[in-house]
Amino acid sequence: MKYSIRDIILESPSGKGEEWLKRQKSLEWSYEINERLAKDEQLEKIFLKREGKEKDFLDAFLKLGNTKALRNFMETCMHCGICIDKCHMFISTGDINNSPVGRAELVRRIYKDPRVKNVDLSKIYSYYYQCTECRRCAVFCPNGIDQSEITRNVRNVLTSMGIIPEYVVTTLAQVYRVGNNLGLNEKAIASVVNFLEDDLKEETGKELRIPLNSKADFLLIPSSTDLFVNTDTMKGYTKVLNALNKKWTISSRATEAANFGLFASEKYLRDFGNFVVDEAISLGVKTVVWGECGHGWRSASNYVRYELAKNGIELMHIHQFTLKALERGQLKVDKNKNDDLFNYHDPCNYARGGNLVNEPREILKMVVRETVEAKYTKEETFCCGAGGGLLADEKNWNEFRAWAGWPAVYYSWKTGASYMISPCAIDKAQFPYVIDYHKVPLKMKGLMDLVGYALEI
Ligand code: SF4
Ligand code: SF4
Repeated sequence: MKYSIRDIILESPSGKGEEWLKRQKSLEWSYEINERLAKDEQLEKIFLKREGKEKDFLDAFLKLGNTKALRNFMETCMHCGICIDKCHMFISTGDINNSPVGRAELVRRIYKDPRVKNVDLSKIYSYYYQCTECRRCAVFCPNGIDQSEITRNVRNVLTSMGIIPEYVVTTLAQVYRVGNNLGLNEKAIASVVNFLEDDLKEETGKELRIPLNSKADFLLIPSSTDLFVNTDTMKGYTKVLNALNKKWTISSRATEAANFGLFASEKYLRDFGNFVVDEAISLGVKTVVWGECGHGWRSASNYVRYELAKNGIELMHIHQFTLKALERGQLKVDKNKNDDLFNYHDPCNYARGGNLVNEPREILKMVVRETVEAKYTKEETFCCGAGGGLLADEKNWNEFRAWAGWPAVYYSWKTGASYMISPCAIDKAQFPYVIDYHKVPLKMKGLMDLVGYALEI
């Protein structure tokens, strides 16, 4: 059955669908994000100044035209429109500029006619920061055009001119300052570790340690939110690593699986990757184990992996690590501890950017009683609507992201599952909000949370 955007919106149990469809037309999507532009003093925190005007953007963008990838994308679009309703941002806003082909049109006219003078930078900035870089469009486009690559190219240019959202700058600055998105210093991390160890003792009766800044064989890179918010995910990692009796550690200087550099520019992405590489070398580890974060894994898998390899260090995702141990019978689990119906949601950057599709499914089947697949899964999965640097908790923005995340939640809800499982730090922040907004009877968890519940330790 072909889905209709209108039906999906109107079916929201929140009862707000009709009003939203009416409001879409009156909202200024083109300038919605501009109020969120970073201030000059914040730019300094990430070593950036605001410089350049329309002409500089044009020159820089035209230089990008020399790259084969961008030329390919710009030349091969045949305007068939197949990608339009595949983009959750178009579904949410109903604005053609927020569709893959519409977004590309904003810059294609520059590419096609280099003599163009009038360019609306505000509009380009706004729409290129309403793309979550999810790559769903590339799966459905007959020519495989990946708008997220165009987005990354355009954002690279905009960032170099100091045109970047405040939320993204604030997050980048925290990583430069202390090594994680939440701004947790060593003292704060040490105190959370103590708290989690006490909690685990109460729960299991066992002394399960979370070593910090120790020489070890394995360096675990959790998302900073795993320490504070998604603590069941952190407990899941801890139980697995302790059950296997591994010599492992976390580091207070690299406690961030996420990499907001992917949303801004190559420079930041590489800098943050190098923080992890330096820390892995200094702690003498043989393997870096990446925690649950979609875009973080995409960055690690495509960039950090090769820098680690140059130093003889291996990179693994916690799911690859856990599955291996489960398959070898090194971990004992009781499925009955997770006695419900679970639907696995593929984070975009695992399925379309990180080659991590089968391992989480295999683990889920081993640790829960029953699973069910949604209509659009694996490479066709819908984005959560908060990737790409859009997870900003702002009044005007929140309703927009509640609808941007609705297609993913809608299809999970339609499976009849009680739980939506998504092993991504951004999903764990976004989906509970979307679920609550639309009033659907779903609960949401990370995958390592369930491993932790099922593990007999
Ligand atoms: S990458 Fe995702 S958000 Fe961006 S245009 Fe494609 S489908 Fe839309
Ligand atoms: S599906 Fe591909 S070729 Fe068709 S309009 Fe979209 S980007 Fe262009």
